[in-house]
Amino acid sequence: MLTYEQARNKVIEEVGKRKGPRATAVVSVWDALGLVLAQEVKTDREYPPFNRSTRDGYAVRAKEAAPGAQLKCAGEIKAGDTVREALAAGTCLQIMTGAAVPAGADAVVMIEHTSREGDVVRFDRAAQPGQNIVPRGSEAASAQTVLTPGLRLGYAELAVAAQVGAVQLQCAQRPRVAILSTGDEVVLIDKMPGPFQIRNSNSVSLAAQVRIAGGEPVVLGNAADRIEALGEKVERGLKEDALVLSGGVSMGKYDLVESALKAMGAEFFFDAVAIRPGKPAVFGMCKGKPVFGLPGNPVSTMVTFELFVAPAIDLLSGAEARALPVLEARLAEAMKEKPGLTHFLPARVEWRERVPDVKPLRWQGSGDIAALAKANCFLLVPADREKMEIGESVSVLLRKDVV
Ligand code: AMP
Ligand code: MG
Repeated sequence: MLTYEQARNKVIEEVGKRKGPRATAVVSVWDALGLVLAQEVKTDREYPPFNRSTRDGYAVRAKEAAPGAQLKCAGEIKAGDTVREALAAGTCLQIMTGAAVPAGADAVVMIEHTSREGDVVRFDRAAQPGQNIVPRGSEAASAQTVLTPGLRLGYAELAVAAQVGAVQLQCAQRPRVAILSTGDEVVLIDKMPGPFQIRNSNSVSLAAQVRIAGGEPVVLGNAADRIEALGEKVERGLKEDALVLSGGVSMGKYDLVESALKAMGAEFFFDAVAIRPGKPAVFGMCKGKPVFGLPGNPVSTMVTFELFVAPAIDLLSGAEARALPVLEARLAEAMKEKPGLTHFLPARVEWRERVPDVKPLRWQGSGDIAALAKANCFLLVPADREKMEIGESVSVLLRKDVV
């Protein structure tokens, strides 16, 4: 049985092999959050475009602003002012943060290091040439590439695009991910379940996870536990860029997802992973499309999506697979788990001290969605650990939608 790292690497390897160029669309910078860039973005001029002051103070010739020196203030320069005149010898100019440093000046002295009476400014300490000035072109040259294809557009990347005037961006279209739940007991969420039926919450959580991962969910409803019913819906799902099924991958008599996929020519790369919850997770390729059979217990579905489906969506978007958001934390209470599988337990991290504290939450097993809704991470218990002590260093996988 593969470890979760091996299984995840398998997904990255197999989906990576088949990663082709994606259809692109031009998107406004206001709407491009989370999309993957499909073009280069270059600067339209030098950055900064002028010698910019980084402080409120006085523009000076450094050698004239010796400790105890006094200079006449000949005027002021605000951010946005057009600066044409050079600094006259023996004078200084009051200058604001973000304003252009005039020719002749080679330093800005912070206002805190000066005193002023009328027009006369007295300097407390020696000025160094270049201090508090960002020289023109030092952040980027003109026509320099600042964003490259394959980059995911977060708020900082969007700000870079906006800064250089790239208000329309060629972006990869979101991969379309078909979502199919399975199970005779499952009813659509707008229907009243019978006494022994359950609502299809998995399609809702999966659609949300697909969106967060950068995909476009295509919800196909639910298939009954019959080969023909499954086959029909699977065929429909394979028209999209990837297919994610929930349920029907365990050892039960009516767990038919693998058989239905096999009948359609799927090649499987794993059908079990050494994790709990989520052990029966299946990954294969069918008609050139990645297909994932995730176990139906809701928490299993959520965990296995994060581990195995999210990296596939990254690759299908034209980006690299992002690393799992794992960080180190300090276990806040002792615990015991059955060894043999890596556990992913609903837990909460709190940033009290330098290293965050993590506390596992009480839960009733992989059907307990309410426990996960209180969690902001999964606590990882390694397969070889039976007991863990308070204060031990542990890994947690953050829930990136709430942290
Ligand atoms: P399965 O993996 O098909 O054996 O399903 C395991 C359990 O997960 C079922 O007994 C249900 O309680 C639950 N389950 C399956 N499908 C869904 C779904 N779409 N939404 C919510 N819970 C589900
Ligand atoms: Mg089932």
